[in-house]
Amino acid sequence: MQSITPALLLLVLSVGTAPVVAQEKVLNLYSARHYQTDEALYANFTKQTGIGINRIEGKEDELLERIRNEGVNSPADVFITVDAARLAQADALGLFAPVKSRQLEDRIPDHLRTPDWFSFSTRARVIIYNKAMVNPAEVQNYEDLAGHKLKGKVCVRSGSHPYNLSLGSALIHHLGEQKTEEWARGLVANFARAPKGGDTDQIRAVAAGECGVSISNTYYVVRLMRSDKVDDKKVMEKIGVVWPNQKSFGTHINVSGGGMLKNAPHKDAAVKFLEYLASDEAQTYFANGNNEWPVVKGAVAKNPELESLGKFKSDSLNVGTLSKNTAQAQKIFDRAGWR
Ligand code: FE
Repeated sequence: MQSITPALLLLVLSVGTAPVVAQEKVLNLYSARHYQTDEALYANFTKQTGIGINRIEGKEDELLERIRNEGVNSPADVFITVDAARLAQADALGLFAPVKSRQLEDRIPDHLRTPDWFSFSTRARVIIYNKAMVNPAEVQNYEDLAGHKLKGKVCVRSGSHPYNLSLGSALIHHLGEQKTEEWARGLVANFARAPKGGDTDQIRAVAAGECGVSISNTYYVVRLMRSDKVDDKKVMEKIGVVWPNQKSFGTHINVSGGGMLKNAPHKDAAVKFLEYLASDEAQTYFANGNNEWPVVKGAVAKNPELESLGKFKSDSLNVGTLSKNTAQAQKIFDRAGWR
């Protein structure tokens, strides 16, 4: 998973013998992203600023653990990952430093940033249904998935996964803990099978008729839409997509984002990089890397399949607030038996 560039190797080797020169034109990026378009994203930053990027890629939890272990000697300048709950976890561990930037404040909507970290793209958690098995009018809201009509028809990934915990967190905010627990119990009672696999596995199960309805992040849907494989095309013919809760609080959205680390040796470069990610050009690359929407108004995705999903009302709950209830969501899902 990890790629160590020669420049980083040099940096690592130099740590023991001489202090790292803070003003060197370099940025150490710890990233849980690994998309093809990211190459262009980073190359363009270096071209604009002369700052080279050393990238350490890994899984979110590994990278967080690594930054913690490195402590004050950590070479990490910026950490980027997906999901508000994970970003909030890094924040709760005290790993981020607050960033004050007029540019970031002007360009990123209020509800998509905190003092310590910023969202750079969004994805929505939508309802997927089998067109032959389920009437879309009956699955217009997350709440509907817990109703008696869908008995034995619901497939969904684990209740411990951050995507579902973030959704649970939003539901706690909008409906309260008691209603969210009733919802979780109703959902579990409707399961067609025990939770297994990721969102794409649920979409395939819906298409195959193993279940009638599920929940998925939008980029998995777009990935299938963009696939050349015959099987994937067949999947897309069988399923429909609903924007949940359009008449109430809006569809739950989550984010990809990042922030500057507290012990960043290159703080100026780190802020420049975050500001760059909010530029129109970088927004297109960043969002498209995973078929997501840019956060900056006016930035375009240039992704016809993503755009074909159309417009919808999204939940405007602040990403910082969103992540506050995840521990409570986990307790509720555990009690409800959503494994
Ligand atoms: Fe994902």
